[in-house]
Amino acid sequence: MKEKLLNLLACPSCGGDILLAYASKYEEKEIIEAVLTCRKCDREYKVVRGVPRFAALDKIEQNKADTAENFGWQWTHFTQEDTKYAEQLLDWLQPVKENFFKDKIVLEGGCGKGRHTSLAANWGAKEVIGIDLSAAVETAFQATKDLPNVHIVQADIYKLPFKRAFDYTFSIGVLHHTPDPKKAFLSLASKVKKGGHISAWIYGAENNEWITNYVSPMREKFTSRLSQPTLYQLSKLPTFGVFLATKLIYKPANAIAKPLADKLFYNDYLYYISRFGWREQHNIVFDHLVAPTAFYISKAEFEDWWREINAQEMQIIWHNQNSWCGFGKII
Ligand SMILES: [Zn+2]
Repeated sequence: MKEKLLNLLACPSCGGDILLAYASKYEEKEIIEAVLTCRKCDREYKVVRGVPRFAALDKIEQNKADTAENFGWQWTHFTQEDTKYAEQLLDWLQPVKENFFKDKIVLEGGCGKGRHTSLAANWGAKEVIGIDLSAAVETAFQATKDLPNVHIVQADIYKLPFKRAFDYTFSIGVLHHTPDPKKAFLSLASKVKKGGHISAWIYGAENNEWITNYVSPMREKFTSRLSQPTLYQLSKLPTFGVFLATKLIYKPANAIAKPLADKLFYNDYLYYISRFGWREQHNIVFDHLVAPTAFYISKAEFEDWWREINAQEMQIIWHNQNSWCGFGKII
């Protein structure tokens, strides 16, 4: 944790300022082990392995942290994947462009391993905070600690430990996996300053009936209950089908006979992912089978979220004909 993060933190219980009570371990400028306290209610929050913990989850095992550390080098260095991830992120954030991040204080709701957090930081954001509830914060921290403008915080999206201090907040593929997506969205929006902006990308209800009717029941009753290593292996089977179909049918069909390709099942999306290799496609399939909770949200419902925060300059964009990108200004 970088000390300047204190300026943005607020107690998730009472909203009071957060102070550094004492730190027992530093690594260069990073606070690794410390205790934070709320000036108002005296509650204490710990900094463990460099990450402030505002969500009382079971203690994350040391070995997970170690694994993250081992992979850290790889994640912090430029990889070939970066260009594709950047493109993908901007696709989800449309109409936002790279230069939109310049000098902004940014919050990412659900940062996972910190892939998008790093991109936002590299696009010139003044500060970027990535929050996540899961153990992924260990990885995200290792992946981003060398970036002077990135902060990783373990927190609950419904009880964000921040002041209303953000110029921009975004959330990609996270809200629909929370128990109450709209409430999570409103919580994120509540941390955006007047005149700031918010972006969200969510699964759409439209065109996804085949998922909600057939895949979701299987996910809820079966695949999300499997151990992750088992599902990792098992999900190779459907990935194999998707991989062959996208590479042998969707990609060539869209290149050669677009009008015909448009008639193919789920063409926009499957053509879109045909550019990805095996690992990325496996990741996508795994992702669709692993989550215990997933909502598919209609345009009408999504619009209602934006109306509730009274967003201006609102844009809702249909993405690959199966999901929604939303963007708006908070006044
Ligand atoms: Zn407090």
